Amino acid sequence: MNSEIRNNWTIEEIREIYFSPVLDLIYRAATVHNQYNVTAEVQVCTLLSVKTGGCSEDCAYCPQAARYDTDVEAQKLMSYEDVVGKALVAKNGGSTRFCMGAAWRNVRDNSDFDKVIDMVKGVNAVGLEVCCTLGMLTEYQAKRLKDAGLYAYNHNLDTSDEHYSEIISTRTYNDRLDTLDNVEKAGLSVCCGGIIGLGETDDDRIKLLHTLATRKQHPESVPVNALVPVKGTPLEGREKVKVWEMVRMIATARILMPRAMVRLSAGRNEMNYEQQALCFLAGANSIFTGEKLLTTPNPGFDADKEMFELLGLKPRESFKAEKEIAAV
Ligand code: SF4
Repeated sequence: MNSEIRNNWTIEEIREIYFSPVLDLIYRAATVHNQYNVTAEVQVCTLLSVKTGGCSEDCAYCPQAARYDTDVEAQKLMSYEDVVGKALVAKNGGSTRFCMGAAWRNVRDNSDFDKVIDMVKGVNAVGLEVCCTLGMLTEYQAKRLKDAGLYAYNHNLDTSDEHYSEIISTRTYNDRLDTLDNVEKAGLSVCCGGIIGLGETDDDRIKLLHTLATRKQHPESVPVNALVPVKGTPLEGREKVKVWEMVRMIATARILMPRAMVRLSAGRNEMNYEQQALCFLAGANSIFTGEKLLTTPNPGFDADKEMFELLGLKPRESFKAEKEIAAV
């Protein structure tokens, strides 16, 4: 068994892991997870849309794209007070990380960005790890966020380089990678993962994992999302992702990136406790909680508390990685 931290995985090696019999795959992933992490610990995060809809991009899965006729109503940037109030609710509900999302193509150096900077400071003062997902950004903008106390920046690659243009035409894979580089240069943690169920092949999934696992530094957090098809988007008719596909993706991510927070993200609302337990066994150690995941339904705090009790899971404390480094 090879569970050292590696950045030189080959596509062939990943393919072999990904296609191994599912019980072997889960067993191997669980072993790696146990070796590197506290398996009963799950990070609980809340994702809030601070600026909803009206986006100029054309991501085929997204109801916030202005060009699709969906039920999402465009809203302007939330107020500082409302956002910090939601952060307090999230903290009281058991969240330790708070992610703010804005439906922007990219960050602009304007008064709205200044307001987001203030929100980052405010949520940081609440004692939560703060994450943002605001679209593409420059190194300077990433540094401003870092100086304000931002912990992590989310920027998903979604799928493989090859499949990307089938899903999004308004930016390139390289644009995405450039932003990830800017985030890293600013000293922020990278949160980067993908979505399955976009009509991609297994090879596209393998290539996405390869791109993530061969970065100089593995992302600190890797969200694995199942497409939630939304009426009015080009992908509205897509088939539901099967739990085994999620398990395969999560387990492979865990084996390739042993220390990453592998996040069981969108699509969790469709899963029962048993299915989620399988994902935790396969190495998932983070979830989003709270009734909405940007604009789609998600299990609320109470349902998750019940599941944690049932499975004997406990929430990971905030800033744990820093505390561990400080203790050495
Ligand atoms: S995923 Fe983000 S960038 Fe793409 S359309 Fe939705 S809000 Fe815009």
